[in-house]
Amino acid sequence: MSKPIFFYSDTFVNYNMGEQHPMKPERLYKTFELLKSYRVFDDAIELGEPASATVEEVAQTHHRNFVMAVESVSAGIHIPGVHRYGLGGGDNPIFTGMYEAALLYTGGSLDAAQAAMDGANVAFNIAGGLHHAHYDRAAGFCVFNDCAVAIHRLRKKFRKVAYVDIDVHHGDGVQELFYDDPSVLTISLHESGNTLFPGTGFVRELGEGEGEGYSVNLPFAPYTTNEVWLGAWRESVLPLLKAFEPEAILLQMGADAHLRDPLAHLCLTAQGWLAAIQDVMALGVPIVAVGGGGYNMTTVPRMWTLATAALSGVSLPDEVPAVYPYQSEMPTLTDHFDVEIPAKELKKAQIFAEESVREIKARIFPYFGIA
Ligand SMILES: [Zn+2]
Repeated sequence: MSKPIFFYSDTFVNYNMGEQHPMKPERLYKTFELLKSYRVFDDAIELGEPASATVEEVAQTHHRNFVMAVESVSAGIHIPGVHRYGLGGGDNPIFTGMYEAALLYTGGSLDAAQAAMDGANVAFNIAGGLHHAHYDRAAGFCVFNDCAVAIHRLRKKFRKVAYVDIDVHHGDGVQELFYDDPSVLTISLHESGNTLFPGTGFVRELGEGEGEGYSVNLPFAPYTTNEVWLGAWRESVLPLLKAFEPEAILLQMGADAHLRDPLAHLCLTAQGWLAAIQDVMALGVPIVAVGGGGYNMTTVPRMWTLATAALSGVSLPDEVPAVYPYQSEMPTLTDHFDVEIPAKELKKAQIFAEESVREIKARIFPYFGIA
């Protein structure tokens, strides 16, 4: 087993959709700086410089015409009907250098996958986790689906790979790309498509053909708390994950299920969210951990720092070191506030989660011979 490795490049921040866009590159460098202020890279975690993905690597997952369209618009070349590729407009605005920036974050996930194949028990790429990108279309702030590209790489060594997505949005792109593939179990926990983008992720989307039973969706209602979220995860997803016996896991660590995230309506704390990551770690298989959503700039760096440390077996003091330039905004890693949910809303969230669990047990457990 080699050391945990964290891939990071100062040019990750070039994936920048503009001032008004919610996905801010600062979440990346603020996380990196926070980890550095704890000196985790002195000894405990190796730092790796990611290489860009190649066209061939990306074209195993995406249609070549789409890849070429991204390359063209990124260089300022107009393409007629570019909207059919999901490019341009509010969610996925075109920017100069978009192609190179997307190849770089994708390369980071590929390098992390390769590190896991070469013996690291955990490898990180917080710039990755862009789970909404489709076969021939950008979507939901995502250009290339680095998760899927990295899973294809992992499959060259590992017979069975699980994809675990705890982002508050449904991991629709990844689900779709492995929908008929029983060698990849995709699991997504998210706020229900009834109330949140992308509008999918119902339990009944359980895969097709050979892949039937290998797409797992655990949707939640607004106001879902740590207890409700973790309880449902441990009762439905965790037994499936164990029964699947994955040889490697790609963990998408979107941080937007947090109470203070501005884009969604779940009510987790950093430590509640972290508990699911610790459950994944306890399975004892190699993990490729990627970032994902997260739009509150004082929660994302803390959550990704907590996750990086936990997965690397490093314990950090809760008090953020004074050398951290943003220490006044983030004095502690964990949250120190009470989550107060109106009783009626909490009850609704509980009932919704119980129903999701019941449906997963009824529809999916039989495929794995568990009850
Ligand atoms: Zn998200």
